[in-house]
Amino acid sequence: MTITRRTFDVYQLIATKMKKQNLEEFAATIRGELVFPKSMEYENTRKVYNAMIDKKPGLIVKCVDVADVIASVNFGRNNKLLTAVRGGGHNAGGLGICDDGLVIDLSGIKFIRVNTSDKTVRVGGGNVWGEVDHATHPFGLAVPAGIISTTGVGGLTLGGGIGHLSRKYGLTIDNLLEADMVLADGSFVTVDKNHNNDLFWAIRGGGGNFGIVTSFKFQAHPVKTVYAGPTLWPIEKTEEIMEWYHDFINNAPDELNGFITTLNIPGPPFPPQLHHKKFIGIVWCYAGDVKNGPEIFKPVMDMNPLFEHVGEMPYPSVQTLFDGLFPTGMQWYWKADFYNDIPREAATAHEKFGAKIPTPLSQMHMYPISGAASRVGKNDTPWAYRDAKYAGVIVGVDPDPANAEKITSWTKLTGMRFIHIHQEVYI
Ligand SMILES: Cc1cc2nc3c(=O)[nH]c(=O)nc-3n(C[C@H](O)[C@H](O)[C@H](O)COP(=O)(O)OP(=O)(O)OC[C@H]3O[C@@H](n4cnc5c(N)ncnc54)[C@H](O)[C@@H]3O)c2cc1C
Repeated sequence: MTITRRTFDVYQLIATKMKKQNLEEFAATIRGELVFPKSMEYENTRKVYNAMIDKKPGLIVKCVDVADVIASVNFGRNNKLLTAVRGGGHNAGGLGICDDGLVIDLSGIKFIRVNTSDKTVRVGGGNVWGEVDHATHPFGLAVPAGIISTTGVGGLTLGGGIGHLSRKYGLTIDNLLEADMVLADGSFVTVDKNHNNDLFWAIRGGGGNFGIVTSFKFQAHPVKTVYAGPTLWPIEKTEEIMEWYHDFINNAPDELNGFITTLNIPGPPFPPQLHHKKFIGIVWCYAGDVKNGPEIFKPVMDMNPLFEHVGEMPYPSVQTLFDGLFPTGMQWYWKADFYNDIPREAATAHEKFGAKIPTPLSQMHMYPISGAASRVGKNDTPWAYRDAKYAGVIVGVDPDPANAEKITSWTKLTGMRFIHIHQEVYI
């Protein structure tokens, strides 16, 4: 890339001591794109999923290959630049972006190759999960991942990865076989159980910062059509449903997953009579033989949901069910924790704070961590919550920045109540 006078002036923002020549030499080695604060595309490129994060890097390098990543790491280190690594840009706290420094953006490193003979999948460091599901589905395969398809493969995998297939096939990290990485000194390594084993251990739940993963290799599993969808009950039934759910899900076959949620129905695709009302709901996914679906769901239907939309659907459909409700660019405030029980007090708190959900998209979720995810040893990966039964999140969400304070205070208050219960009852 050629550095113009204008971009160089802007570059002064990132490192006043650096020589223009350094930047020119760096730019000459990059096949991707350099985005500066005055570049036309700067505003869009620096945005991340959570619009509460508003950071302004001095330089964004949109890498397209491993060589770009190596050059960027060396450039950042040699010039002592604060450096952030960006995958899908979903991180709640904005870890993929920084103020003033260098952002190594991996969104141009996308490739997916499905190997049908050993059911493995190679994925680029900048892919998002919807792309992986799209590529594996025609072969009747899936890699366990999260529930929103725009989430990055990078951040989700390095953090653990909980989703609809966790009970049957484990967390995403439990299905990671190998990774190619660029380390802080610019070296390139491949890690797996036989090579650089300590680093392979660290990236399975230890988060970012151990290096930049340019390629992941996952074990995929036979998942094509699932029996899935939501069931809803009035919010007043929260205590009854949560107590029943705790017992039911922890005794259900591994093929059945269902996360429980306290939510407001904001609008379509739900029918109009449900709009703007609050519910306790469960979003299900049965990844066993769909012929068994009706029998598996009989106990659920016996709980007389007010609304249900459970049936056969392609796996990518359940993975994208909520994409439309949660586009990029909204305000998000998060609290999260792990729990090993749903005592009456917690169910009561869900009902109380669920009834006060401040905006149509704010929610509370509890994702089960049982089945295969719980059978991995506590020290086998850095992801040490194997004996917890649930990962819980409280999210205040709204498109309007004017509601930022409202969603933040509800989330904090709810979180404080849950921490109190947690101290008394939970792990
Ligand atoms: C709407 C929504 C739904 C979610 N659902 C789930 C879910 O169902 N299950 C679940 O487990 N999690 C879920 N998450 C959490 C999600 O996994 C994390 O926010 C994750 O960090 C996002 O990864 P990313 O690559 O998109 O984010 P980024 O912000 O780009 O990156 C997050 C972190 O990972 C690092 N990173 C990213 N890619 C790489 C790479 N290739 N090499 C090295 N470091 C890298 C970044 O430096 C940063 O520290 C959800 C998040 C959101 C916003």
